Amino acid sequence: MSNAFVTLENLDKRYATHHAVKAINLDIQGGEFIALMGPSGCGKSTTLRLLAGLDQPTGGDIRIGGQSMRGIPAFQRDTPMVWQSLALFPFLSVVENVEFPLRMKKIGKQERRKRAMEWLDRLGLGSMAERGIAQLSGGQRQRVAIARSLVTQPSILLLDEPLSALDAHLRVRMQTELSRLHKELGITFVYVTHAQSEAFALADRIVLMNDGSIQQTGRPQDVYREPANAFVAEFMGMNNIISGKVSGHDEGKVRIDGPLGTFTVPTKTNSAKQDKASFVIAADRISLSSSPTGGTAAEGVTGSVIGIEFVGSTQTIFFDVKGKEFRVQKQQHEIDALDLTPGKELTLNWQPQHAWLLPEAA
Ligand code: ADP
Ligand code: MG
Repeated sequence: MSNAFVTLENLDKRYATHHAVKAINLDIQGGEFIALMGPSGCGKSTTLRLLAGLDQPTGGDIRIGGQSMRGIPAFQRDTPMVWQSLALFPFLSVVENVEFPLRMKKIGKQERRKRAMEWLDRLGLGSMAERGIAQLSGGQRQRVAIARSLVTQPSILLLDEPLSALDAHLRVRMQTELSRLHKELGITFVYVTHAQSEAFALADRIVLMNDGSIQQTGRPQDVYREPANAFVAEFMGMNNIISGKVSGHDEGKVRIDGPLGTFTVPTKTNSAKQDKASFVIAADRISLSSSPTGGTAAEGVTGSVIGIEFVGSTQTIFFDVKGKEFRVQKQQHEIDALDLTPGKELTLNWQPQHAWLLPEAA
């Protein structure tokens, strides 16, 4: 038995028509900020609902603080949840909404009011305590929902895409606020999102799911730079995946032959006995030049420009490399210097140590 604060053990959920969570295993430490990520329908909300006790598993177990949650109803768990759709009571005032969980716990009126006001003050809503919910902005409502979840001083807070209904500007502000709260309170946050920027900004660890299974668990930078498989590499976005046959190995390296050429890729393990292999080269690890070679130590391919996508300070350039699309990220000033036009041929180079061999071939 692990000594993690929260343990999901072969946790499984089948609906009549769908196997939503497939025997997942996960340890969460006390005080961790975990982001559950993955495409829509991959089982994030289901996992959170199982944690909260709002839904019952069809297999496996959840332990919190060493105690099995089997048969323990939601209201007896210490796992409040904040949703995107806020589920605040429109007929109660702000402070009454925040007091509500304490009322359920039969805490006296004065004590209730005092604690609710403390949380409202803490979230900058003290002056709005008597207002109705309809008189608040989206961001203020989200803060009321957070205050209501924290007023019982839980040791875990579950958040299901809490910011997705807010506009971009407010979302960033609320991110900062959640991050601050997490640090101040020192409790465990399990945060569901499909937005990579949110997960990366907030989480100590990312849990990336697909089709009911966990694909990878790790620190944001590790999931980003060392994806476990092609799904993770693609989900992270700016990755180019190259596949081929293993044609040889050397100390800590494999040689991969494929339609795009022959490449040398570092490998941490010597498990490259497989005959097929794939590696990833991140879009920001590629340098561009108009000369055919990019220095003796570099690996590379030749491609022709398809187009450029402007997304802020960093731009993405799309290349055609023998029929395969490559993406390269550059700053605007670098792009200006290259004088790019569609059809222009360039060499795409990278340092061999920046190639990442996928543990599973694509
Ligand atoms: P996510 O939050 O990752 O978008 P969910 O956990 O909500 O995904 O859903 C996972 C899958 O389970 C989806 O395919 C969804 O349609 C299905 N599902 C969720 N709830 C139910 C239910 N009550 N009955 C049947 N299928 C469900
Ligand atoms: Mg969901």
